[in-house]
Amino acid sequence: MKKILICDHFSKQTYTGLQDKGYEVLQAKSLTPTQNEIKEVHGLLIRSRTVIDQTLLDSAKKLKLILSATAGFDHIDYKICQERNICVMHTPLANVQSATELTLALMLSQLRSMTQVHTNLVQTKAWRDQAPRGHTLHNKSVGIVGLGRIGMTVANLCKAFGANVLYYDPYVNSNEFKKVTEFKELLKQSKIVSLHVPLTQKTKKLIGCEELNLMTKNGLLVNCSRGEVIDQKALVDFMNIHSEFKVALDVFNQEPCKDTKLLGLDPQFLGTPHIGAYTHEALENASSEAVQKLLNFFEFEQISDPVPPHAAWTKDL
Ligand code: NAD
Repeated sequence: MKKILICDHFSKQTYTGLQDKGYEVLQAKSLTPTQNEIKEVHGLLIRSRTVIDQTLLDSAKKLKLILSATAGFDHIDYKICQERNICVMHTPLANVQSATELTLALMLSQLRSMTQVHTNLVQTKAWRDQAPRGHTLHNKSVGIVGLGRIGMTVANLCKAFGANVLYYDPYVNSNEFKKVTEFKELLKQSKIVSLHVPLTQKTKKLIGCEELNLMTKNGLLVNCSRGEVIDQKALVDFMNIHSEFKVALDVFNQEPCKDTKLLGLDPQFLGTPHIGAYTHEALENASSEAVQKLLNFFEFEQISDPVPPHAAWTKDL
């Protein structure tokens, strides 16, 4: 009988879906399993808070599959897994809508100073004359960095709002949106910049002091991708000089974010605690998709959405 170890929280259906097919399902006591817990299991079901490193893999003598119910995979040392013939898969489609909608929510909130006017209303009953005048998304130039699953969905929604969408992605060609081949040009031409790239050697600190200085001084930067894509210190310095420049972040250099210099820039800064995929729908989609993939792997040797993905950008990992 195959043993599957579940780390993190998964729905009851996840357990029954596997047990009904004859699998023994074990629950790890904490997010990261102990060496003892992992040594006899054939499959691991995890989310992003479970870090899989070499020490842990050294004890996983029977492990054949790691299934991460996530889009990202930077929490798994997949290179060691490759060496040891352990298959790694993920569920990149499950939270596209959820992450996209959060991006739009952050964008629109900052354009209308939503948190500021709400706080003023409930705390001091401040009415419209005292509120900052907002901006529409309509007719704004929106620069999408990384036109993948989420970037493309964000681009389509921005287009539906009547925004002028351009994108920078060296690995993608789209007829639907205007491609800008120089990253710096995209920064200069966009009032709003939204980041949707994976974290690679090329995207780490993609936005630093030099790049920020190319952006419109009353522009808006949104990041729902990975925190390290932005040099957060450079961002804080820039925001301190340019008080009209707005930022909305779901991801941070270090998480949980305790950067008081950044957090203190509210409402110029709007933040959410990495909740892009944190919806009932996305978590459920990812769980059920993960169970199906796990069954397909052990029953039919089927592999879908392997880690690393078959994509040109993975050469930068
Ligand atoms: P994806 O792989 O579908 O798309 C990524 C795109 O980035 C690809 O089109 C790729 O060509 C492009 N790219 C790679 N390197 C680039 C570079 N140097 N410059 C410009 N473009 C580059 O990924 P996705 O599913 O759309 O996810 C995008 C990001 O969002 C990932 O970092 C993912 O981890 C993150 N994410 C965050 C949350 C959250 O909770 N905030 C949820 C889901 C996904």
